Amino acid sequence: MKQRKLLMIPGPIEFTPEVMASMSLPTTSHVAPNFIEVFGQAIERLRTVFRSPSGQPFVVAGSGTLAMDMAAANLVEPGDSALVVNTGYFSDRFGAILARYGSEVTHVRAPSIGAVPSLEDVEKALKSRSFKIMTITHVDTSTAVRTDVKSLAALGRAHGTLVIVDGVCSVAGEELAQDDWSIDLALTASQKALGVPPGLAVLVAGLRAIERFKARRSPVQNYYADWTEWLPIMRAYEERKPSYFGTPPVNLIWSLNVSLGQIVEEGMAARVTRHRRLSKAFKEAAAAMGFRQVPTGQEHAADTLTALYYPEGVDATILGRIGQFGVIVAGGLHPDIKARYFRVGHMGAVNDADILTVVGAIESGLATTSARTTSGTGLAACARSLYGGPT
Ligand code: PMP
Repeated sequence: MKQRKLLMIPGPIEFTPEVMASMSLPTTSHVAPNFIEVFGQAIERLRTVFRSPSGQPFVVAGSGTLAMDMAAANLVEPGDSALVVNTGYFSDRFGAILARYGSEVTHVRAPSIGAVPSLEDVEKALKSRSFKIMTITHVDTSTAVRTDVKSLAALGRAHGTLVIVDGVCSVAGEELAQDDWSIDLALTASQKALGVPPGLAVLVAGLRAIERFKARRSPVQNYYADWTEWLPIMRAYEERKPSYFGTPPVNLIWSLNVSLGQIVEEGMAARVTRHRRLSKAFKEAAAAMGFRQVPTGQEHAADTLTALYYPEGVDATILGRIGQFGVIVAGGLHPDIKARYFRVGHMGAVNDADILTVVGAIESGLATTSARTTSGTGLAACARSLYGGPT
């Protein structure tokens, strides 16, 4: 029997067997010809995944927070004004990082938790003064709120602002077209929809971001994150030449290339459609079981995860019960509502069976509480959404 539970949190996620197998290959030198080839290929494939033929990828050992840190360290100079389109916990984090590098930060906040700031409010802020940088959290993992990156980025560009997108919970799961949408820098981390164990910070910088970096008046205030060091390394790997600044996490990069190969083979459009279909099935099942989502409208609810308020008579102890039925889901994260909701991740290699299993485990968990039990209505709604049938 398999001694494991299904991991359905919003990162780390379940990885494919091929990705896991590649983690256990013998570690090579970081300048071994076969590793140089793998790293070079991974860099090229990232352009396809971010839909940024003109972009410069960076892959560095670290988590998503390092990717945010690297963006701010290289693109912010003391006194630069920054606008944060704020949809929750991770938008707050970007504000704090920008401030650490001397930025004057203004937040445009959503009117309530689970809502999105309106385009009008963002435009009003952009008109109020000139901002050097604007950050957008594509999917805030604390609220499962997805922003309209395409429209927001267009607004930012129209006002001459450099647009940075935190795509940690969106890249390779939600639709994102970096070049077509005029995004200057997008970033993510390996453990989410990219489908690789935690440990890689991944960024793709557009031409304007690289120009802004090259025009800096002051040195980058972070030694490890400095693109002055990393740019030649990324270019060398792509040209299949040996180079060194900091030792790359060889096994993780090997896995990244395997996962990117699988993602590119599936195709970005098909991948986004799969995430949308599975998210819809899970959300319809959740509604049938009596759950209300944290996002205040379906049009801004993410497809990579779902955030659900506990119904009357249910609290966080249900997470342990869901675990007893074989599935790990995540508790709340947004400090203001932490004890009132939980989160289910459904991104990456997720499939129909995973969705049916998590719905079954939640439904079984609910049956052990004093809440109204739903005896199969969640699973029925899920199967109907996935396969059609009587409504
Ligand atoms: N941004 C978002 C939207 C995230 O979901 C996360 C991680 N959950 C981060 C940034 C930070 O990433 P990490 O935990 O890998 O540092």
